[in-house]
Formats: sequence, C-alpha cells, structure tokens
Amino acid sequence: RNGHDGTHSPHPQSMDFDTSFDEAARRALGIKGLVPPAIENYSKQEKRCLEQINLKGTSIDRYSYLSNLRNTNCNLFYRLLIDNMRELTPYVYTPVVGEACLKWSHIYEHPEGLYLSYSDRGNLHEVIANWPQENVEITVITDGSRILGLGDLGVNGMGIPVGKLALYTACAGIHPERTLPITIDFGTDNEEFLNDDLYMGARHKRVSENEQREFMDEMMVALNDRWRNIVVQFEDFKSPFWSLDRYRNTYTVFNDDIQGTGAVILGGVISAFKRAHLPINEQKLVFMGAGSAAVGVAKQICGLFIRNGIPEAEAKKMIWLVDSRGLVTNDRGDKLAEHKLYFSRDDNEGQQFKSLEQVVDYVKPTALVGLCTIGGVFTEPIVRKMAELNENPIIFPLSNPSSKSECTFEQAMEWTNNKVVFASGSPFPSVTVDGVEKIPGQGNNMYVFPGIGLGTILCGASHVTDEMIYASAAGLAESLTPEEIEKEWLYPELSRIREVSVVIARDVIRAAQKEGIDRNKLLQFLSDEGLEEYIREKMYDPKVPRIGSRSASEEGSPRGRS
Ligand code: NAP
Ligand code: MN
Repeated sequence: RNGHDGTHSPHPQSMDFDTSFDEAARRALGIKGLVPPAIENYSKQEKRCLEQINLKGTSIDRYSYLSNLRNTNCNLFYRLLIDNMRELTPYVYTPVVGEACLKWSHIYEHPEGLYLSYSDRGNLHEVIANWPQENVEITVITDGSRILGLGDLGVNGMGIPVGKLALYTACAGIHPERTLPITIDFGTDNEEFLNDDLYMGARHKRVSENEQREFMDEMMVALNDRWRNIVVQFEDFKSPFWSLDRYRNTYTVFNDDIQGTGAVILGGVISAFKRAHLPINEQKLVFMGAGSAAVGVAKQICGLFIRNGIPEAEAKKMIWLVDSRGLVTNDRGDKLAEHKLYFSRDDNEGQQFKSLEQVVDYVKPTALVGLCTIGGVFTEPIVRKMAELNENPIIFPLSNPSSKSECTFEQAMEWTNNKVVFASGSPFPSVTVDGVEKIPGQGNNMYVFPGIGLGTILCGASHVTDEMIYASAAGLAESLTPEEIEKEWLYPELSRIREVSVVIARDVIRAAQKEGIDRNKLLQFLSDEGLEEYIREKMYDPKVPRIGSRSASEEGSPRGRS
C-alpha cells in the first residue's frame, strides 16, 4: 500500500496511520487498534501539529518534525503547509534548510531522494531504475557545490532538492509521487566534511569538470530513458551556466538560480514600473554590483525593454552597472570580466565615477537595484537623493541575507517620506504609516518556479525557453489582485500562491504553444478560463479527502483527485 496517498518516501515507515480514518477504513486497512480510538477531523490534527511545532526548542527540531510528518502522513503534511505557508516554509525551505544541510550527516534519519555517485558512472540506468515511483514528472538536481550561500556541502546538499520539491507540491500541486530529489556525489572540497566521521558522501575531492560533464551526459540520457519528457531543474551548482547551455536545447531543463531569480525580480520590476507611474522608456536603472546575479537580472529587464519596442542598443543603455571599482565603462583602464561587457558604457565622455553617490548624481536614475552583498551601501544621502529625483523612487536591495541588504525597508521608507517602491531579497518587518501597515515586497523565487514547472509538465513542453521564463514574470505581475495593487504590493500574498501558480502555469503554457514546442496539443483548444480550470483539476490537493477519512464526509468536495 506504499504510496497510496501520495507518500513521498519509498520506505515502509511511510505507512500512515491517519487518525481521520473511519471505522470501515481502519478495518479494511487492518489498522484497527493500531491508532488511538478517536476519529478526528483535520482541524484537530492541525491543532496538534502546530502545538508540537511550537513546543520544539530549535529550528532544526521543527525541520525534523516536519520532515517526519511528510514521510509518515504526506497528505496531512501538505495540508498543514498550504494552510500555514508563511509560518512553515521557513522550516521546510530557506532559511532553516541551510542549517539542516550543514548538519545533514548528523541529523539524518531516513533517505528521501536519489543519490547518484560518481563511482556509479556507467551504471546510472541501473541506479535510476531503483527509484520506486513509476511516474516521475519533475526532478530537482544539485551537486551540492554551492548550497545557498553556504558553499560546498557535498551530499549534505540533499536538503535542497527535497525542500524545493516540497514547495513544488505545496505551491503548484505537483503530485508528491511524481517528484524526484537528486543529489550528485562528485566528492566535496569541504575539508571539514572530509574529516567528519559521520559524513555520508564519497571521501575525495570533487572530480574534474570534464569528468562531471561526462557523468551528467550519462545521467540526462538515463533519466529521459526512464521518464520521457521529465522536467529537470538544476539548483545550487557552483558553475550553473554550462549545464543550462549544454542541455537546454536537447532536454526540458531550467535553472532556478539563474532563470527563476531573473523572472521573480522582473515580475516585481514590471509591477514597480506600473506603480511609479513612469513610462517604460523613461526608466533608468543603476545596479550596485555587476556579478552573475546583477548581470542576469539586468538582461531580463533589458529583454522587457526590447519587448516594449525599444531597440536593443538603446535598451541596454537604460541600465548602468557599478562594481567595486565604480561605474562600468569601456575606458576605465582595467580588463573587464566577460559578463560585464554587454552593459559596459562608452557615453561617459572620459569622466570616471567611483562612488555610487557620484553615479546617482550623474545618471539621475529612476531605480536602484542592489546585488553587491555590501550591507548598507544605499546610504541616507543616496536614498534621499532618489526621493528628490523621483516622485516614487524604485529601490530594490536584493542582497542576502538581511545583514547584507543594501538598506532596510524601514530606512527606505523614512528617507523617502514613505514614497519608496520597494522589494528586497530578504524578509523585512512591516512599517506602520498613519495606522496603516505597509508590507515590503520580497522577491522570493517560490513565486515562480512552481508555476514554471507545472506549466511545463502539463503542456509537455520539449524545452523551457526564454519566452516561457518571461511569461512567468509577466504572469506573476498580472496575478496581483486589485486589492493587492491598492495596498501597493509588488508581489501577491503568499497564502494565494496556488492561485498565482495557476496564472503562471497558464502563461507558460501559452508561451510554449506560441513557439510550437508543446506536446499536449489539446490544450491549445481551451480558452484561458478553460485552461485555468484544466490546470486546477490537475493539481494535487491534499484537502480533497481520501476514501475512508473523516473529512470525506465532513468537508466533502465533489472534485476528483486525478
Ligand atoms: P558576485 O558574483 O560575487 O557579485 C558581487 C558584485 O558586487 C561584483 O560585481 C562586485 O564587484 C560587486 N561589489 C563588491 N563589493 C562592492 C563594492 N564595495 N561596491 C560596489 N560593488 C561591489 O555575487 P552574485 O552571485 O552576483 O550575488 C550578489 C548578491 O545577490 C548576493 O547577496 C545574493 O544573495 C543576491 N541574490 C539575490 C537574489 C534574490 O533576491 N532572489 C537572487 C540571487 C542573488 P567586482 O565585480 O568588481 O568584484
Ligand atoms: Mn539556489
């Protein structure tokens, strides 16, 4: 009976003894007497779970509790998570998953995903055949080489694909049985782990890049041999670009660190431009930081300008990059890194601008974007200057964690007389203005990747294209309700995430159809409303009662659960 209810874990302890099963079900399942006598409804189960979570002394205890709940009562876990999204995601994914990965070898209780070891090369078909679930639709794969901002954590990185896929299920209703967390063990360069008695990965340094590539080639073939059309999402690779470039035209792959991040910030930027009441072609953005994140985000925004009819040569001139040596220009006298060249300027008439303050005076930007990981660089004079220049200055301090944020929400509000259009990478507390609570936007990737995955799966897209990623950003901006716009939000309420995912999936499907890369052609015949209804029907919903559970009679819903 393994997995009858959508259980995540392929292991026998995942048999669930749900206290909501009625008498008949208990007899039929042979669990009569093995569960306490009371037949409970969901609200009682939820109450008990939340009480237990609150009793836990540490974040890791809460993480482990939830992980065990997922393995023993999958439906209850997802129902609890969906109903308490804001409170519980920190213990299922960031930030606590980071701590869990650091300690993985010590807190390990049961396997939750597939480990592919470099020593298994040549036999990956065989290893992949061991995965017990038949109908996998999506996998998240890491090689543990750059877990969050924590560096090389080797096979301890497994927490990331496990947590991320839990969010795919909670936020977009991808059935838990159809998800597959994978961690590749290429070895680790983490000396501390190599010397840790309990470390559970191979005890050698990472194999060479060439060896990694060969292995990944074999893995991609083997995965697609077993599950045709499987959607592959790469996560937390130290060098993320090559695998994306290598596989994006052959398989259905995307990288959330690059594409998901770009989309979620672009979605916020689209909403911010609307709120600042300035036409798109009058926008001028200064980026503090010119690293991979900054250039990736800048390119997405540049794509938005181009889509709005601005010629590429002009579009890229609407964005100024500042790095540790000042404004990025062609005549600066240093050799610029490859990725900075696209936005490097030659219109500075020989002037050099070393500080952000000088750049702001010179450019008079409408928006400041921070991706430089230097806490506090959006200083009071700079932010005040932005407020002088603009009715509604757009300020996006996106560096993580909060201590590295370029400014706080409170500062941005105070220094702009509450006029700022704000989104950050890390969470900030709300600020109360004239008795009204103002909630800062947070560019959290979980707004987009679940919908990208869901849309890609449902239409059977053969690739994940730039158009589909762009569609996810536009869909995110479009998913704001009139009430949310009224409250000046740039991102929707997290508790509505499943509805947001429906809109994003719809737009991703439409984009795939436009490019003719959808395999499920029947969806082309549906109206937008019909398509949304189709998507909702396909989503795994833990609220839809299981046969024999008390909620079936009490909170019955007529919907099927295919
Ligand atoms: P990175 O590649 O190390 O880039 C950092 C950039 O900041 C470099 O261009 C660097 O300049 C510049 N910089 C460093 N010190 C500076 C200074 N004093 N003044 C001006 N510029 C300075 O890092 P990354 O991967 O791009 O990530 C950057 C940040 O983005 C991280 O904090 C990360 O958390 C955040 N991020 C947020 C999100 C999100 O909000 N969803 C997503 C992705 C990344 P040089 O080029 O001269 O060294
Ligand atoms: Mn990541």
